[in-house]
Amino acid sequence: MTDSDRPKLIAWLAEFVYAEGQFKSQLAVVSNSEGLIEKIVRADQLTDEKKINLPRRALMPGMVNAHSHAFQRVLRGRTEYRTSDQRDSFWTWREMMYSAATRLSPDDVYDASRMAFLEMALSGITSVGEFHYLHHAPDGRPYDDPNLLAKEVIRAANDVGLRIALLRVAYARSGFQMEANPRQQRFIESSETYLQNLGSLIRNLAKGAERERSTGFNSEGALADGRASDSAWVGVAPHSVRAVPLEYLRSVIGYANEQGLKVHMHVAEQPAEVSACVEEYRRTPTALLESEGLLGRDFTAVHAIHVTPKAIAAFAKTGAMVCACPTTERNLGDGVVPAAEYQNHGTAICLGTDSHAQVDLLEDARELEYHARLQKLERAVLSSCAPSDNPASEAARYLFECATINGARSIGAPGGTLAAGKPTDFFTVDLDDPSIAGASPNDLLAGIVFTLSRAAVREVVVAGKPVVSEGRHLIQEEVVERFNDLQKKLWR
Ligand SMILES: [Zn+2]
Repeated sequence: MTDSDRPKLIAWLAEFVYAEGQFKSQLAVVSNSEGLIEKIVRADQLTDEKKINLPRRALMPGMVNAHSHAFQRVLRGRTEYRTSDQRDSFWTWREMMYSAATRLSPDDVYDASRMAFLEMALSGITSVGEFHYLHHAPDGRPYDDPNLLAKEVIRAANDVGLRIALLRVAYARSGFQMEANPRQQRFIESSETYLQNLGSLIRNLAKGAERERSTGFNSEGALADGRASDSAWVGVAPHSVRAVPLEYLRSVIGYANEQGLKVHMHVAEQPAEVSACVEEYRRTPTALLESEGLLGRDFTAVHAIHVTPKAIAAFAKTGAMVCACPTTERNLGDGVVPAAEYQNHGTAICLGTDSHAQVDLLEDARELEYHARLQKLERAVLSSCAPSDNPASEAARYLFECATINGARSIGAPGGTLAAGKPTDFFTVDLDDPSIAGASPNDLLAGIVFTLSRAAVREVVVAGKPVVSEGRHLIQEEVVERFNDLQKKLWR
């Protein structure tokens, strides 16, 4: 098919379309050849668009997974036991995670990442923020191309069809007054080397985008201001206050702010991290970040669990966001993100699948609410009291915004909502799936957010291109086969 006979506009017709915060019936999402939404119109207003009918489907904006460590998918199911007579915890889990992290080759990183991203696509995720900290060869030496592994992860996301923010991790040390841990040698770079490698990755992605444009593969129209590509871009991720000393933090966050890059950082995931920070700086991690002027609208604090009321106010004051990862936080025994308190202060929360103990962002969304219920012995905690047209969906609407709009803001993804000019990134849900059958338009969103089985996700489209069709990813067999081989090799 040549470009001239390719249909210019494609109209996706579903029974319900989720736009402007509600489900509407008899709408068509019309996508142009640049993968952007041209318009959303009533079905009877369509003219010569190519029509794709999706009967008994609800069509929703693609979700944004704001925090992922893709390679950790290899650990699933392999850490669910006590490692000694001692108490098991995040820190014992981390040793097991390092045992995998120290053995992966570049090909393995690609295969593991592709598996994680495939599962994301199958669950309706269309963009991911990858908090990437594997930089060097297993012996700690840089590869000839110091961004080799970052590029493998980006390639994996693009091959699966996801947009990716590669949040390149800065990592300097084991911790305050701690001996170097040889199992962290793949992560460590000086601040000078880090900034150099970050710059080279940004230039490399710009060149790749240039090549795609010249071959007409990725059109100019799909690009946001000041960024080379909307399929892969770079952000800055100082790992934590434990792993990055203050001077280094100032330099990388300063650089990110100058360049308009997003900043992600693990903050207050574990009480031990908070107490070590108080010992070193006489301030909690959030107080340190705030008093140093390092928080801001482009900053996302991942976890932000063990925080004081003052810290919660600091996030609100500076416009920083919080990324909750409830399925991982419950798996690691991290604690509960104080979501209601953040909501009361107007701090936006996004969601991440983090360690991939489970990949289902709607499960993370519902857990945010359920954990708050268990703590407060109340129901519908994250519903606001503000008047609304559809009270049945209020908590669900808030949670779905965490999984879409807030995630997009956090990682700088172009999607998050369905509207003219936004990318054609969406997923569909089977209205007859047993997990939500019988829902009325008014409680459909609550049904989807609180009970949807991942198997009910049927089509996933990114930039107007189908990635998942009838619940199967287009390259599913190959990705799974390669991943099975990798797991046999790693764990034999
Ligand atoms: Zn993490």
